[in-house]
Amino acid sequence: MTIPALTLNDGHSIPQLGFGVFKVDPAETERIVSDALEVGYRHIDTAAIYGNESGVGRAIAASGIPREELFITTKLYNEDQGTDSAHAAMAKSLERLELDYVDLYLIHWPSPARNLYVESWKALDEMRAAGLTRSIGVSNFLVPHLERILAESGTVPAVNQIELHPYFQQPAVTALGAEHGIATEAWGPLGQGKYPLLELPEITEIATAHEKSAAQIVLRWHIQQGHIVFPKSNSRARIAENFDLFDFELTGDEQASITALERGGRVGGDPNEVN
Ligand code: NAD
Repeated sequence: MTIPALTLNDGHSIPQLGFGVFKVDPAETERIVSDALEVGYRHIDTAAIYGNESGVGRAIAASGIPREELFITTKLYNEDQGTDSAHAAMAKSLERLELDYVDLYLIHWPSPARNLYVESWKALDEMRAAGLTRSIGVSNFLVPHLERILAESGTVPAVNQIELHPYFQQPAVTALGAEHGIATEAWGPLGQGKYPLLELPEITEIATAHEKSAAQIVLRWHIQQGHIVFPKSNSRARIAENFDLFDFELTGDEQASITALERGGRVGGDPNEVN
């Protein structure tokens, strides 16, 4: 199975489908990430605050997969924002991941009350220049946060990783991203199981028509919207199911009917309030 790759605005390539490890138990992470690598995933999305970078690192080391075939993302947590603390946090993440570099390093949340995200952004640029990460980006940045880093640094993020699923599509954020060539990474692509997305008739009818699961239909919608996605599951069967998205296509009408589900339904934290 060949996973499509997108080219980021800095010229690096990213597999459009990956595996996310938010809330994967650190004690189970090595086994679960090993399952994902065996299924064929080559893109893993973790974060320092998930507490499971070491498990990701052990799975990578045990896999024997050449480093250049992998795409590894991790994130700078709020309490580590600031120049020196960001550099120290990156060093610790690389140590836990047993890597010399990551492919993508993100500011996890703008954390506006700290007012350190511009300074932290400049630190990420230094890390990229030093070869510690290939690409840099942000996460949970709303329009004012993006506008501020664009205005106050010469550096455009490669990605913005935001909550995005059919009930909550953040059109203003993705439009500003598109204007600047910032790729959209959709976190919580299945709505984190917090609303009955996979039982909506608009989804299940399309699933029946394609002989696919409801989760595959939603993930395929993301792929056709151009989002980068990394659904999470602890179950090997679902990990495999979520990887199997490339032997069918939604019609324009099917795609539009899922897009029409938008209702401002945020399920995670509000980036203005998460500090
Ligand atoms: P998700 O939408 O991927 O939902 C995961 C849940 O969906 C699983 O726990 C499981 O219960 C269910 N699920 C998965 N596959 C399924 C299937 N085939 N059928 C039925 N149910 C299925 O939510 P997520 O894990 O929060 O988001 C994905 C990734 O995004 C995370 O693992 C993490 O890497 C990233 N993320 C980033 C942020 C951020 O602030 N940057 C926040 C949350 C998540």
